[in-house]
Amino acid sequence: MKVIVAGAGVGGLQAARLLAQGGVDVTVVEKAADAESMRYNWHDDVCPEVFEECGLTLPEGSFPKKDWTFIVPDGKARGMHEAHPDMSVMRNALNKMMADKAEEAGAKLLFGTHVSCAMTKDGRVTGVIAGGREMDADVVIDSLGVNSPIKANLPESILISRHNDDEVFDVYRAFYKKNPDAPQAEYTNKVYMKHLGEGGISWAIQDGEEVDVLIGRVGKMSDNTFANALKHMKEENPTIGSEIVTGGGRYVIPVRYPAPRMAANGYALIGDSAYMTIPMLGSGIASSLRAAGMLADCILSAIRAGADDKHASSIENLWNYEVAFFRAYADHCGVDVMKRGVLGLSNKTLSLILTSKVLTNEQICDLAKGRLLRPKFKDLVRMAGAAGIRVFSLLPMAMIMLRAQSAAKIARKIPEKYDELAVAKWVTKLEGKF
Ligand SMILES: Cc1cc2nc3c(=O)[nH]c(=O)nc-3n(C[C@H](O)[C@H](O)[C@H](O)COP(=O)(O)OP(=O)(O)OC[C@H]3O[C@@H](n4cnc5c(N)ncnc54)[C@H](O)[C@@H]3O)c2cc1C
Repeated sequence: MKVIVAGAGVGGLQAARLLAQGGVDVTVVEKAADAESMRYNWHDDVCPEVFEECGLTLPEGSFPKKDWTFIVPDGKARGMHEAHPDMSVMRNALNKMMADKAEEAGAKLLFGTHVSCAMTKDGRVTGVIAGGREMDADVVIDSLGVNSPIKANLPESILISRHNDDEVFDVYRAFYKKNPDAPQAEYTNKVYMKHLGEGGISWAIQDGEEVDVLIGRVGKMSDNTFANALKHMKEENPTIGSEIVTGGGRYVIPVRYPAPRMAANGYALIGDSAYMTIPMLGSGIASSLRAAGMLADCILSAIRAGADDKHASSIENLWNYEVAFFRAYADHCGVDVMKRGVLGLSNKTLSLILTSKVLTNEQICDLAKGRLLRPKFKDLVRMAGAAGIRVFSLLPMAMIMLRAQSAAKIARKIPEKYDELAVAKWVTKLEGKF
């Protein structure tokens, strides 16, 4: 069995490592010059348990994520306290560790090589064109990120989910040197919900001698919107200095439900190319790492059961990977419904829900971790009573939560075995929820 992992994303590298450990011939093809110069020279938040679960250690330099304070559109603040915070992980150290481990396990890493598209024959992916040459494979694992050129150039006959323009976050992130003359910030980790009343978030996080600034909008962020938002952030947060230490570019994060078609004959998506992020937050490292275990297990189990390469790489077998992912992450479909609903709430209702006592600290933490809330009617009565408001005011939120639960339920009912008719029916039903 020959596998090509296109793009050295975290999930792709973990899949490469596990498959190579299982005796598969694996080559990772990455455009960056080496593991150190792979993307994002900053830290991001990951739930720490995932490292142990995946047989990894926490990368060097990791530290606990600090609590956030939400700023709602009317300017009020709501703090949250996490009893078990995620860890902020240095991306360079993570990339290097993942690349080293894949190589130690026997995977070949081909840096400085651009993947342009897949080779296909009779509805099956048979390899990639990379660095101008053809590379054959039984399975191509697409770990090229949200705008994967492989996915974009596949023929229509190979059914794979694609995103709409409003299902990504157009995001600016920069770490600014702290302005030494500014007074200390009142809130050290401010997250602006529907910043300036627009569809998206921004944050200003005091990070040692730097300030981590993020401005994100769902869909395309115009230059004008971005300039206004940055100006507002600087006025509101005088600790933001003028010098950028790292980042300073525009990036894209998927903010939608996982791809209902993430596998085809000879092809499987992993990570951002399969939208494995939490739809509201874009935290895709943990789910991509876990997905790698599911994908490797699906391929290796078939080989161990005596399947030949053609069967092990078929949609009938790779479907087991998708089933495992949807069983574990069906709630992300519900979270996407919630995200769309929350963005549609009036600024007044959102402010009320977040800053009154409607939601407890634990519920806010659950939402921040991408978990679905499942309140019953009696809970809504209690929530309204605690906040001193009429139950009627919570109706828009209750409707969103009901729709969210229904989407998660459909997602969980993914057909167990691959049957094109049953799958097509399930995909249509699921997509209808968004
Ligand atoms: C601003 C920002 C903040 C984030 N914060 C968090 C967070 O706090 N927690 C979290 O879990 N996640 C966070 N994420 C998301 C996280 O980065 C991704 O979900 C995760 O890394 C999985 O992405 P991936 O590996 O699939 O894709 P990517 O990280 O996009 O990796 C794709 C790889 O493919 C390579 N590549 C791309 N095109 C080609 C090509 N044509 N040929 C060869 N190689 C190619 C790239 O160089 C890259 O190495 C954040 C992302 C951004 C942008």
